[in-house]
Amino acid sequence: MYNDKNKSPAPINNIPLNYKNTTQRMADICQQAPLAKHKPQLIAVSKQQPGERIDALLQSGHRLFGENRLQEAYNRWQARKLRYTNLQLHFLGRVQTNKAADIVCLFDYIHSIDRPKLAIAISKEMRKQNRTPQCFIQVNTGEEPQKSGIMPADLHDFIQLCKYELKLPIIGLMCLPPRNCNPVPHFAFLRKMAQQYSLTQLSMGMSNDWQYALRMGATHIRLGTAIFGPRQSKQTETNGI
Ligand SMILES: *Cc1c(COP(=O)(O)O)cnc(C)c1O
Repeated sequence: MYNDKNKSPAPINNIPLNYKNTTQRMADICQQAPLAKHKPQLIAVSKQQPGERIDALLQSGHRLFGENRLQEAYNRWQARKLRYTNLQLHFLGRVQTNKAADIVCLFDYIHSIDRPKLAIAISKEMRKQNRTPQCFIQVNTGEEPQKSGIMPADLHDFIQLCKYELKLPIIGLMCLPPRNCNPVPHFAFLRKMAQQYSLTQLSMGMSNDWQYALRMGATHIRLGTAIFGPRQSKQTETNGI
């Protein structure tokens, strides 16, 4: 894990405090760092977190949440979506093509458009449902074979396909830097590619490295453990809602 000397461990039980401290720190960084964007968005990644922690954050007034598994997201958000009309749900995980309909139906943003077959399936569903979740293209900046994301060398053609042929609402790029390495060059690389294609939004930065991501111009940071504390095991979380 990349080490940040300045980062203090998140207190587990005080979600409102974690939230307040994080948003304060975000504002401070944005004032000081020359490349930082004005008012970046904090996506609270609620995957594998118990319902009471999510409700605690909702009570603090937060409305942007991220998930990476479809079934889990439906269990957690279907009812809450009716209660909180201004929720904004972000899908961050790998999308199976045959789940495109459900993803388009539930989510307002999709961060993980990463291959032509998926882009085609998503654009079909958007037309069918007349819904247009905003999309990020996920780029495999570390060119890791096991990881999702379009390879940088294929990005040009993929953007042409998504934007001009399929008319997908592509607003930016997303990356997940390799573990155990300095993420900053990856953030810088993503930023450069986005600029090249006039894409204004950058989804980058997680609990361990978000301060670096903000300084590199992230518009969306995705924080799980920094807000909620450690995740529950998958077993507990799928059964426990
Ligand atoms: C889980 C996840 C996060 C949040 O991770 P933390 O380290 O808990 O902040 C962010 N982005 C994606 C794509 C994830 O899957």
